[in-house]
Amino acid sequence: MNTNTAPDFIRARIAADLAAGKNDGRLVTRFPPEPNGYLHIGHAKSICLNFGVARENPGGVCHLRFDDTNPTKEEVEYAESIMRDVRWLGFDWGDKLFYASDYFERFHAYAIELIKMGKAYVCSLTPEEIRAYRGTLTEPGRDSPYRNRSVAENLDLFARMRAGEFADGTHILRAKIDMASPNLNMRDPAIYRIRKTSHHRTGDRWCLYPMYDFAHCLSDAIERITHSLCTLEFEDHRPLYDWFLDTLGTPYHPQQIEFARLNLTYTVMSKRKLLQLVHERLVDGWDDPRMLTISGLRRRGYTPAAIRNFCELIGLSKKDSRIDMGVLENCVRADLDENAPRRMAVLKPLKVIIDNYPDDLVEELTAENHPKRPELGTRQVPFCKEIYIERDDFLEEPPPKFFRLAPGREVRLRFAYLVTCQAVERDPKSGEITALHCTYDPKSRGGTAPDGRKVKGTLHWVSARHGARAEVRLYDRLFLSEDPEADKAVDFKQNLNPDSLTVLSDCWLEPSLGQGAEGQNYQFERQGYFYADPASASAAKPVFNRTVGLRDTWAKERGRD
Ligand code: ATP
Ligand code: MG
Repeated sequence: MNTNTAPDFIRARIAADLAAGKNDGRLVTRFPPEPNGYLHIGHAKSICLNFGVARENPGGVCHLRFDDTNPTKEEVEYAESIMRDVRWLGFDWGDKLFYASDYFERFHAYAIELIKMGKAYVCSLTPEEIRAYRGTLTEPGRDSPYRNRSVAENLDLFARMRAGEFADGTHILRAKIDMASPNLNMRDPAIYRIRKTSHHRTGDRWCLYPMYDFAHCLSDAIERITHSLCTLEFEDHRPLYDWFLDTLGTPYHPQQIEFARLNLTYTVMSKRKLLQLVHERLVDGWDDPRMLTISGLRRRGYTPAAIRNFCELIGLSKKDSRIDMGVLENCVRADLDENAPRRMAVLKPLKVIIDNYPDDLVEELTAENHPKRPELGTRQVPFCKEIYIERDDFLEEPPPKFFRLAPGREVRLRFAYLVTCQAVERDPKSGEITALHCTYDPKSRGGTAPDGRKVKGTLHWVSARHGARAEVRLYDRLFLSEDPEADKAVDFKQNLNPDSLTVLSDCWLEPSLGQGAEGQNYQFERQGYFYADPASASAAKPVFNRTVGLRDTWAKERGRD
């Protein structure tokens, strides 16, 4: 898909390192999610990169590491969803599944080493005082009054912190680096804090938990990661990453390399914000098809290949940007155009009675499954006297360029016959059209006029006597503005699109779609791509989610802006 054959800067760097025999020729990357939410499309970029480069290079390995240094409650559900999503995207960590919490003893030993070197101290300032001492971007910080505690005192206090003698927030362990550093991350950052909270894997064994910057570089070093690929916001943390490993003299020192995170228009990408949408029930769970989570995209009908192609197409850069949602949709549209079998479905039905068609006759007509791929074969579709067509395909007073059905007008029913509209049936009270009466040309089977007369419009249809009833859900963008977080003064939820979901409950499908279609993608002819959602289907009715329309409507929107 990517026509640019030059490797991105990360792949180029890795190739150069391998060519130079660095790391004994090993290549080990990792994907390190924090199990505090479901994965989103931004994570997919990181997954495709980390697992991708490992796969592309002989002997390359990618670890899945749960960065579970922060004790929270619901981590098991999250960890399971993360594994499911990574596998679904088509990647495999083999036996390389790790948990940062498994390294807690080793992190702790490293912290004691730093104390013994005089490179870490217990600070007893309050959190507010620490903030005040920290300085600003333009002003240096001030040394903590506890900075020069003796090694013995630090060791004693740190041991008592671990023993649970102190309350949360009373003491922290800090690295002793430089309170005047222009890089705020280097101003004696915290290493450990007290948190009397149980952890889903280590239970109540710890009341001290390591900070991200300390745990992350050490986890990488312990696992002998060669290239630690992360997003740009960690660029300013790299000096600290290197400081910990250099100071401790760890046997392995991975190289951190940053790339721009993925942002998309009309969505929010942070787990914290997605969690708010879920908790406040503004969406139907983490896998709501409007969410840009992997599980939401799956339920929407995205395919793993479409997401991988998208990640490849957008490439890697060193500059943050916002990718147009239309780019993601084009990727799934391209994949489904090639692979999704075609079916007919009527979403807003209008009954058509074919007056001259025999009352009890049912014909099985042959329909191709894919216009461009004859190898995908054909299927039989039943045709009879009563069918449904799309309500929008009929107009009593058609404007000039409307080639669909109108009084006295002849159209083609796809794979079937030519029919002509003879009369309109109405509800006597409301005046609403309830059915159309047509006649068909029995000699036009397959849709070709016997005398070669021109018939412009072709409509899809479903047999009213054989069709399966279904619910169809149409999704629109979840947010109204391109960047829902642009105005910091306004809650991003104010930007939610109230019309992001339209439910059509009286839809008619070809009979074959009534059962056993769950988990399959289809193109509904003339309508778009739809996915039979296993999570929503009931015994009474299948549910189809519209994955994406047939055309890029976002491009039109962009033109209008
Ligand atoms: P969020 O900001 O959404 O809460 P996070 O960075 O806290 O995400 P982690 O679980 O720590 O989530 O992320 C795991 C990995 O995925 C990290 O290496 C992170 O850099 C990467 N990642 C997260 N969001 C994106 C994104 N939008 N684009 C690219 N990579 C991302
Ligand atoms: Mg994070």
